[in-house]
Amino acid sequence: MNTYETTIIKHDMVDESTLFLHIAKPEGFSYEAGQFIMLEHEGVKRAYSLYSSPEEDHLQLLIRIVTDGKLTGHLKEVRDETPVHFTGPFGRFTLKDSPRKKIFVALGTGLAPLRPMIVHLQQTGFADEMQLFYSVRVASQLAGNDEFVALAETNANFHYYPCVTRDDTWQGYQGRVQGILFEKLSDPAGHDYYLCGLTVAVKDITQQLLEKGVPKEQIFSESY
Ligand SMILES: Cc1cc2nc3c(=O)[nH]c(=O)nc-3n(C[C@H](O)[C@H](O)[C@H](O)COP(=O)(O)OP(=O)(O)OC[C@H]3O[C@@H](n4cnc5c(N)ncnc54)[C@H](O)[C@@H]3O)c2cc1C
Repeated sequence: MNTYETTIIKHDMVDESTLFLHIAKPEGFSYEAGQFIMLEHEGVKRAYSLYSSPEEDHLQLLIRIVTDGKLTGHLKEVRDETPVHFTGPFGRFTLKDSPRKKIFVALGTGLAPLRPMIVHLQQTGFADEMQLFYSVRVASQLAGNDEFVALAETNANFHYYPCVTRDDTWQGYQGRVQGILFEKLSDPAGHDYYLCGLTVAVKDITQQLLEKGVPKEQIFSESY
């Protein structure tokens, strides 16, 4: 297992509870879309999925600040150029080779491993339909919203369904992601599914997909 020494380039707050951390990509580090690293800072080590796609020239993480969190409490205050190190890449939650249409379901920072999968498929000419269902509590937490809106406008095969669970001001879909997912879903067994986020929601969606006749071999997930 390799350890990489690197530095934080910058951090961008998405809102007060969520941030993007941009990290210099160390020489020799490569990974597959969907994998994660173990980031260590001030003696605390935590897993984070890579939000950047392997083709991009720096690494990006999407992190939710946990109240009293040992690592995320520090990361909110971290300065640019701070040295950090990480090990990796880890994980088997990666794109499977299949011609089937793709459905991505992201709950909160569960978007992180899914975004590089979408970018990779798009850049490598995947010509069939891709749908992203993305749920957050309040609209200000929608990381990457502009990118996905633009992608949906320029790529007729990409469909983007952001939804929020606790924000009456949001003009789009309200409520749990399951609502919009199962409203839009046709031909359940004709897709591969990539789900990431809260364990309880991932389990529930998986169960409902199985009940709709989706073979378990077409459902891939990571939860935490
Ligand atoms: C494969 C994988 C990928 C992940 N990817 C991401 C990602 O892309 N983005 C992301 O934001 N997170 C991701 N995570 C979660 C991440 O690894 C951390 O768990 C998260 O950031 C919290 O770390 P922390 O040190 O800030 O919080 P911690 O200090 O670990 O605290 C976490 C929670 O536990 C509670 N807690 C801590 N200690 C105790 C205790 N002694 N008793 C009771 N409760 C306690 C805290 O109050 C808090 O609610 C991923 C996890 C895994 C396993």
